Amino acid sequence: MITASKSDAVSQDGLLPDLPNGPLSEYRRKASFNWKDMAMFLEDEDIIAFKNKIFSTLESDPLFYRQPGVDLPLEKYRELTFLRCKKIFEYNFLTFEATMEKPQKMLVLINCLGMYDWSLSTKYFLDTQVFGVAIGNTGSERHETILHQTQNMEIFGCLALTELSHGSNTKAIRTTARFDASTKEFILNSPDFEAAKFWVGNMGKTATHAVVYAQLYTSDGRCHGLHSFVVQIRNPKTLLPMPGVMVGDIGRKLGQNGLDNGFAMFHNVRIPYENLLNRTGDISSSGNYTSAYKVLLEIHIYVVIVLLLCMIL
Ligand SMILES: Cc1cc2nc3c(=O)[nH]c(=O)nc-3n(C[C@H](O)[C@H](O)[C@H](O)COP(=O)(O)OP(=O)(O)OC[C@H]3O[C@@H](n4cnc5c(N)ncnc54)[C@H](O)[C@@H]3O)c2cc1C
Repeated sequence: MITASKSDAVSQDGLLPDLPNGPLSEYRRKASFNWKDMAMFLEDEDIIAFKNKIFSTLESDPLFYRQPGVDLPLEKYRELTFLRCKKIFEYNFLTFEATMEKPQKMLVLINCLGMYDWSLSTKYFLDTQVFGVAIGNTGSERHETILHQTQNMEIFGCLALTELSHGSNTKAIRTTARFDASTKEFILNSPDFEAAKFWVGNMGKTATHAVVYAQLYTSDGRCHGLHSFVVQIRNPKTLLPMPGVMVGDIGRKLGQNGLDNGFAMFHNVRIPYENLLNRTGDISSSGNYTSAYKVLLEIHIYVVIVLLLCMIL
């Protein structure tokens, strides 16, 4: 049974003010437990205080005011969601250090934003947790500047894996990234419309950069499989597409219409070779491809051969 001391009750009342009287009050009074004790049992004071801070900040900011029952036009809703997302960055509810100290807080933040509007929450999540974390986890120290720009919202990101005809079957993805030894760049191409990146959250209107999954080809024509690359798709100042990038919005969806899901096709789009996210496979400036996995596989095969020989001899 959950019980609280008198001093606990005082601190609870500060963190969890009584709910306003209304039609549900009668039923709440019939509960066999105290909801404040239950809230404190499920979440500690720090988390409840964090939630209160988020909710009271949004409540007192006119940008987050919503008129119940009013459907905004699609473009207006998307614009507002982007401006609100920008404001969430400015409020900086969760620093990197605070997230490291208590990772649960990131989930709490995403949920609180979701309770306000899931379009906003997903928009923020895709940029910071999907785009940003993909770079942090699959890139290396050479991508630190991009990470820093993401954290400051100097750039805004998305993750472009799915293609119009290749969703679950990611192995069949057909976007290509060919290494050009003469310029030390990768050249990205979408062979046809079926290989257009599709559904990508944030890509429709607002993303300036994308983590793009493509088949990596070295200049000798060998394909080394699916790899991810950071690709600038729009100018961060004007939001106009970069040369060779055809990018747009896929339009109204069943839900989350504040979020701009989009498509993109690439026509000879050149990116520096350093934009390859190189945690598991890398290319040198001269175009030599190396992968820790391939080395491990070779060691594994070598060990198996040695063991077999030992058994035979
Ligand atoms: C709202 C939304 C947002 C999205 N955001 C992004 C994004 O930000 N970035 C991104 O890259 N992608 C995004 N996607 C795409 C998403 O990743 C794909 O929709 C998903 O991978 C499924 O691919 P698909 O839609 O092509 O369906 P398919 O792969 O064609 O699958 C269709 C159906 O067939 C089934 N199926 C597929 N393969 C098999 C199999 N081998 N055996 C049995 N059944 C199978 C599936 O379960 C499904 O029911 C988003 C999609 C949605 C709907």
